[in-house]
Amino acid sequence: MRQPQNIIGIVCDFDKTLSPHTMHEDTIFPYLGIPHNEFWNAVNSLVKDRYYESELAWMKLLLEREDFQKLSNEDLRNMGLSLTYYPGIPDFFNELSNIIEIQKYQEYAIEIEYYVITSGLREILEGSNIKPYVKTIFGSEYDESESGKLQFPKRAIGHTQKTQYLFRINKGYLDLQDDVNDHLPEEERRIPFNNMIYIGDGPTDVPCFSVISQNGGHTLAVYDPLDQSSFNKCMQLQRSSRVDFIAEANYQANTHLWRWLSYTVLQIADQIILDSNERQKETGLIPAPNH
Ligand SMILES: [Mg+2]
Repeated sequence: MRQPQNIIGIVCDFDKTLSPHTMHEDTIFPYLGIPHNEFWNAVNSLVKDRYYESELAWMKLLLEREDFQKLSNEDLRNMGLSLTYYPGIPDFFNELSNIIEIQKYQEYAIEIEYYVITSGLREILEGSNIKPYVKTIFGSEYDESESGKLQFPKRAIGHTQKTQYLFRINKGYLDLQDDVNDHLPEEERRIPFNNMIYIGDGPTDVPCFSVISQNGGHTLAVYDPLDQSSFNKCMQLQRSSRVDFIAEANYQANTHLWRWLSYTVLQIADQIILDSNERQKETGLIPAPNH
């Protein structure tokens, strides 16, 4: 069935995009008392010496810790309240949506939906303060044993696998049981790529930036203003034309980031109106103006 295609999808990475830290640093590491450099060095050794995928490496190394084995997914959700965010998160979600709460856009029922795709743990974000604003969170996950404790990984989402979830959002296949590879004609896709904005922070987002750009969408890379190397990564992305725009990760109103996002949202919304009018003319639902 043809979709109205009047939704704007804003898709965010989490670690160092919405938060200045990785989610591990605010939650699991303090709980386990692990120095984070030591942990990531051990992860890197598995990747380098034994060719592990990095998500499987950290998931394995956590599971080897006795204190971690005592946790359930509910415990991970409870840790979600310890996350820290860049300025403006989470109020940003409602504030940005408010800019299209005017009659011109409401006549076409245009709305913004927010999504997060993370290589980190979905359950931590399910318990976080951003959860009420986000339609769907995709992330790595552990299964639970019969006694309700974390066990084998159910899902490990690496950087390249993240793009699968962009297609899920594009097609409206948010249920993981749906086969994302099923063919779906462009007009039946829930959120066309040109109605999507992807926000990420660095090289790990390159596969998503590429999929979004190649399909006519919009891309923003954010940097930590206190970290020169984070800015440098964004500059490299911009100079290699991998992103449309870079900005300091400050989601408060009237910042550089805010200006670009609100401008881009309104551009997309105006195009949705033009496309919708065009379709109505073609299908003859509304007579074309007489001139
Ligand atoms: Mg990141």
